[in-house]
Amino acid sequence: MTFNELQIIEPILRALVIEGYSTPTPIQEQAIPILLKGGDILGCAQTGTGKTAAFSIPIIQKLCESKEPEIFDGKRNKKGRKRIKALILTPTRELAAQIGDSFTSYGKFTSLKHTVIYGGVRQRSQTDALRNGVDILIATPGRLLDLVNQGYADLRHIEFFVLDEADRMLDMGFITDINRVIDLIPQNRQTLLFSATMPVEISSLAESLLHNPSRVSVIPEEATVDLIDQYLYFADKGNKTPLLIDLLNEESVQSALIFARTKHGADKLSKTLTRAGIDCDAIHGNKSQNARQKSLLDFKRKRTRVLIATDIAARGIDVNQISHVINYDLPESPETYVHRIGRTGRAGYSGVALSFCDSGELGLLKSIQKLIGKDINVVNGHEFECSVCLGKIERLQKSKAGANLKDKVISLNKDSQGGNRDKSRRSKGVFWQKGRRRSA
Ligand code: AMP
Repeated sequence: MTFNELQIIEPILRALVIEGYSTPTPIQEQAIPILLKGGDILGCAQTGTGKTAAFSIPIIQKLCESKEPEIFDGKRNKKGRKRIKALILTPTRELAAQIGDSFTSYGKFTSLKHTVIYGGVRQRSQTDALRNGVDILIATPGRLLDLVNQGYADLRHIEFFVLDEADRMLDMGFITDINRVIDLIPQNRQTLLFSATMPVEISSLAESLLHNPSRVSVIPEEATVDLIDQYLYFADKGNKTPLLIDLLNEESVQSALIFARTKHGADKLSKTLTRAGIDCDAIHGNKSQNARQKSLLDFKRKRTRVLIATDIAARGIDVNQISHVINYDLPESPETYVHRIGRTGRAGYSGVALSFCDSGELGLLKSIQKLIGKDINVVNGHEFECSVCLGKIERLQKSKAGANLKDKVISLNKDSQGGNRDKSRRSKGVFWQKGRRRSA
């Protein structure tokens, strides 16, 4: 399948060539024809699947096709300026900015205008853009409602409404804002809802929002997860940082994204790593927009090797070729584990995901392994190993509840006699280098 076969118009095809896209991704193959025909979509897809192009390409195309008569049919305001015809609602500033970049790329040979609005920054440049008129608006909910209330954004002419990362929106408490936005846009519109997961709340939101939707789904989880080598380190809370420092000192860690559960934890870890001479940065919701964007850009351009992030801040990170994802803390929800590790192994690259687990996190580990349908390979024999965890696992195993986790344990120094002489070497974390790692 090619973009040509999807009946994409020439100005967009030209832009896609510049982007280097030769074939559509599965979500694009499924979604683009439906959207071009005017159907609603309920999409189960996460960032990394190409979903942004899946919705932005048809929106650009349909707006281009209906563009000619717009000046005569009320699609411009009294001053002849463009009216907002497509609204993309997204949870984070980073994601909004990335979607904006996609519209810039795919629409560069069209005369459509778009702008991105989000909170945490001054509104002046955003209100200026809105005043000049845009076809497409990409927004986070709070700032959007703020600007609607101030009279800068008029949503009465929306023809395309995209709710992106809907599950994340609900997690972040945006449901009231979303409902307010929905009340402001016309009923007669094409609606697209994308969500990485489909809990009941999303299904009921979809039911109320979408009209006879087609379901499109890509489950990159398994595909991505298969490309990623996953390893587990049992370590006490107090030993996680020295273990991390040891691992980060390995040359094979070309770029690492480290997940911490809290903003405070991310900051503290960043300071400790910096003191240990590791070049790193932290990104989370308490940082200013400018600081976050700078950290991201430095990481993307490989000026920073290690980036520590909370889940919410990391949601918008679109960086290919992250060699390692490290779960310093295990996530509360098993789906988040899959999303986190999906930050590596992207775009066909292989990747490594290392997870630390202390004795209080064994329940979280169990849920993760249940979701991914396999036990994560345990690295044992390292200097910071948590004996309490191993003891618990052994007891679980004896009671059969632990299944065969122990069988999965990799004996790092199988061939060596162990002993203190090898300890520092074992802790050095050379485990993931090609040819050295193995699955049990
Ligand atoms: P997304 O899921 O929208 O965040 O896209 C993930 C990444 O895939 C982005 O870096 C896109 O530029 C890239 N991408 C999207 N569609 C294609 C395609 N058809 N071919 C190659 N790369 C793509």
